[in-house]
Amino acid sequence: MLNIIISGAPGSGKGTQSDLIVEKYTLKHLSTGDLLRKEMAEKSELGQMVESYISRGELVPDNMIIDILLKHIENQAEDSNGIILDGFPRTVAQAEALEIMLKKLDKEISVLIDVKVDENELIKRLIMRGQTSGRCDDKLETIKKRLDVYHTLTEPVNEFYKNSGKYISIDGMGTIAEIFDRISQTIDSKR
Ligand code: ADP
Repeated sequence: MLNIIISGAPGSGKGTQSDLIVEKYTLKHLSTGDLLRKEMAEKSELGQMVESYISRGELVPDNMIIDILLKHIENQAEDSNGIILDGFPRTVAQAEALEIMLKKLDKEISVLIDVKVDENELIKRLIMRGQTSGRCDDKLETIKKRLDVYHTLTEPVNEFYKNSGKYISIDGMGTIAEIFDRISQTIDSKR
């Protein structure tokens, strides 16, 4: 079983790399951002509740996102070589909840891969993405807020996994293929 957390600031390329990892290692991709955007597009009750947080660049409250993840992780964990979590956990409370969830399923995280990208490059990429993504949170003011939230609430999750020896950081500057190569080497060393 290979259960990976892919972490990194907004714009670090987590989603792009996740797609490549999923294909190479036959994992299930669980992206909380994608799940939330699907709910918003469907205008579900949940989608309407989360929209205001997302468009402000804030995190959706822990209890809400933990419920959503719980619903999906049980199904996903059944019939694959493992899962890749993209966008979760984003707070230490979420990491703690995840550990409890996985324990109940008799599973554990193999590695957290932290994709590191310079702040200027992040902003450049997100502004560029905003021109085509149609995402309500890809505009400068919201991008700055998301980076802020990342540093205060999400970076401490790295410490959480450092303490259990599962943290690995990867240089996220370069071409998509170069970065994927670095990530693949890390995963292969963990198998
Ligand atoms: P990015 O990494 O580019 O910020 P995501 O697609 O992962 O994009 O997330 C978009 C938004 O969805 C976040 O800014 C946040 O509002 C919400 N979100 C996603 N995952 C979580 C989470 N685990 N906890 C709280 N909010 C989340």
